[in-house]
Amino acid sequence: MSNETDSPEFSILVVDDAPENVMLLSLILKDLGKVSSALSGREAIDKALENPPDLILLDIQMPELDGYDVIRALKEDPKTENVPVIFVTGLSDEGDEEKGLKLGAIDYITKPYKPAVVIARVRNHLRLREYAMRLEQLNEELERLATTDALTSAYNRRYFMSKLDEEVKRVRRYKRPSSLMMIDVDHFKKINDTFGHDVGDHVLIALVKLLEDKVRQLDTVARIGGEEFAILMPETSEKDALILVNRLLDAARAAAITVADDTVRFTISVGCTEFDADTVDGEGILKMADMALYDAKRSGRDQVVFRSPTVTA
Ligand code: GH3
Ligand code: MG
Ligand code: MG
Repeated sequence: MSNETDSPEFSILVVDDAPENVMLLSLILKDLGKVSSALSGREAIDKALENPPDLILLDIQMPELDGYDVIRALKEDPKTENVPVIFVTGLSDEGDEEKGLKLGAIDYITKPYKPAVVIARVRNHLRLREYAMRLEQLNEELERLATTDALTSAYNRRYFMSKLDEEVKRVRRYKRPSSLMMIDVDHFKKINDTFGHDVGDHVLIALVKLLEDKVRQLDTVARIGGEEFAILMPETSEKDALILVNRLLDAARAAAITVADDTVRFTISVGCTEFDADTVDGEGILKMADMALYDAKRSGRDQVVFRSPTVTA
């Protein structure tokens, strides 16, 4: 498979306590990938953990740790649990084969074997391995697309709402407050009108970078609408939330975004609220922050307004 241009080079680990067996298998498999070897169960586990291969060919009868011990150890460690294992063994008893497969081996080859059959089986398993890895990558990519906004890479509204719902549950259980802020770019329409929509886009991208730079690891930054963002701040009181908000207001004032010949300056308005064990749902919190944001706009923009959840509209 190493000669198929779009395939990765596979790494194959051959484990057998008899050096001549290792040599023979290595020779048979040399065109299918990069073959390395281990002459004992211990060495096999160490090598696999250090650098998980794409496939392991494993002898069963070995002194000290045998093949069964090795596969058990590999299946117990998240680093190696998904590495496919093929037993290559002199034990041809049906019970041995059943035991090997039950322990998680994907195949069982008995000695003496036909080299061509070993090659064909290994090739099939490597192909499956490749599909599995591609599928995993695609799933990660799908997950990313489903949870983030394409322009800014910030989390999207849907992801934010699910995070917020989790946080509401957590706050109710542990009775420690969290905070949330809504951010809206001031006079953003004017930025678009003056510099063009592309430049407006760059301002949004730069703003997300700025926000993500300033928040803590635990906080979630999301794009809620066009030029509206929200930040969830778990385990954060009003006082601490406002310290962060003021840092963000300052950072926005100080930012100068250069796109081609244009330098754009902007400010943001922020609505902030704290929520505690009495909170009913995420939508209510968002509405509270939105009302605070509206007040910040009405009071002249480039500022924060805090609304306590106990004060009703
Ligand atoms: P205010 O200070 O009251 O928030 O005024 P504003 O102009 O920022 O608010 P308004 O809601 O009137 O306009 C928001 C603008 O944001 C209108 C819309 O075209 C623009 N917008 C929304 N999404 C995007 C986007 O992805 N890229 C760009 N460039 N503009 C966007
Ligand atoms: Mg705006
Ligand atoms: Mg807006």
